Amino acid sequence: MQERFPAPEFDSPTGSVFPPPAGRRVYCNRNLRLDQVKAVGFDMDYTLAIYRQAEMDRLSIEATVRKLVDRGYPEELLSMQYRTDFPIRGLLIDRKLGNVLKMDRYRYVKTAYHGFRRLTREERRRAYHTRRLRPGTGRYHWVDTLYSLSEVAVYAAVIEHLETHGGTLDYGQLFSDVRECADLSHQDGSILDVVLEDLPRYVDRDPDLGQLLHKLRSAGKRVFLVTNSGPEYTDAMMSYLLDDGLDEYPSWKNYFDYVCSASQKPGFFTGKDPFVEVESQEETRDLSRGRMYTGGNIGDLQRALGFAGDEVLYVGDHIYGDVLRAKKESTWRTAMIIQEMDDELRVLREYSPSFARAHSLEQMRDAVQDELREHQARLKKVERKLNDHESGPERATWDAKRVRHRRSIDRLRAQLKDLDAERAGLHEVLDDASHPFWGSVFKAGNEVSSFGNQVEQYACLYTSRATNLTQYSPMHYFQSPRHRMPHEGGSAPGT
Ligand SMILES: [Mg+2]
Repeated sequence: MQERFPAPEFDSPTGSVFPPPAGRRVYCNRNLRLDQVKAVGFDMDYTLAIYRQAEMDRLSIEATVRKLVDRGYPEELLSMQYRTDFPIRGLLIDRKLGNVLKMDRYRYVKTAYHGFRRLTREERRRAYHTRRLRPGTGRYHWVDTLYSLSEVAVYAAVIEHLETHGGTLDYGQLFSDVRECADLSHQDGSILDVVLEDLPRYVDRDPDLGQLLHKLRSAGKRVFLVTNSGPEYTDAMMSYLLDDGLDEYPSWKNYFDYVCSASQKPGFFTGKDPFVEVESQEETRDLSRGRMYTGGNIGDLQRALGFAGDEVLYVGDHIYGDVLRAKKESTWRTAMIIQEMDDELRVLREYSPSFARAHSLEQMRDAVQDELREHQARLKKVERKLNDHESGPERATWDAKRVRHRRSIDRLRAQLKDLDAERAGLHEVLDDASHPFWGSVFKAGNEVSSFGNQVEQYACLYTSRATNLTQYSPMHYFQSPRHRMPHEGGSAPGT
């Protein structure tokens, strides 16, 4: 992702420091004036309800593996080693070869694992670098939600376990089975019922949530919820998150103008299905405050809101279902919740001298390479002259020049080697600090990762949690740092 220019800090009249600390900041890809936003909508799971990822993964991995064993997979899988810390968002599953891949924005595979074994550069090259990779085809599957991380953890663990014990596998079939068993575990209550029984164990209740919604309402904005979760689960979860909050809001429903559950996003953004009022089970195209609905579509919702297009800001965590579809099918503005940012920002902070060193190594490398190319070109010229003058007084001069250029080339190559070794070591340290298997979720080596690229393209704003919006006035003008071009990088003119 493009480097951000540090914003100047100043004390606001209320005494708070602006901008907010990095972890509470809302980052901006495209300018957005909050005063022009008339309605703010929220997704629920992983947006307002922040799940404790490791607990949720464990629950869903165990439920999925139990179902795999019921389908005839060996019973020993129940006791196999799995790693909830293996997957991250933005990975790609290769169902044909049973690999898990991380790509940069150009779809170049930078890291790949088979089970828990990292593929060598040569293995990656043979499998993925000789032909253009097409992620949209049936062979590949995007891992684009935190909810689906457990599927990747199971897939890699089963491959690792069965192959080390001499088994052979149909990787495509295995992936379909894992997906079906995971979906089934969500549908039959193996996961959600357990979550509802012990919400504090699985959900991180954000004490500022009521304040955020109240602040938006007080600024005259409409507030709504559009979630794919069913009405009963939504009711239980939202009660846990918001009841017992502010006195003015006796029920969580009081915070919202409209509540749409089981909304079937992304179809919600393109379809024309009517809403169904939950209590009466009657179809309707008109929404009322204080009631819950299922189904529905964006057109009817916008009519109820009285606002449409870029007057609406939708806050969600799913790059495809919430952010990309909302952006492509409508002109809704989007804010993406990326829980992983807490870790990313921690690494950026703790390792800032290493990042600075990595940056200066890149610049030194560029300079050395330029000099090297220059000497190589001159050496070629000298050698041509030597061929033309097999004898004669000039030959000695050209010979001396050749020796000089060769020495310089040797010296520069050695420098380049040292710089590369230091750079590789640094990258390894920084990647390890971000994630032991995959490095940063936003970056792939020096490049932006395919996930980071999607965030840049489709999320107008992004932040680690929804309540970070409370740090800003409802009139705030979010400005992208990208109104500068690369040549405006900060050095004074003429230098
Ligand atoms: Mg969600």
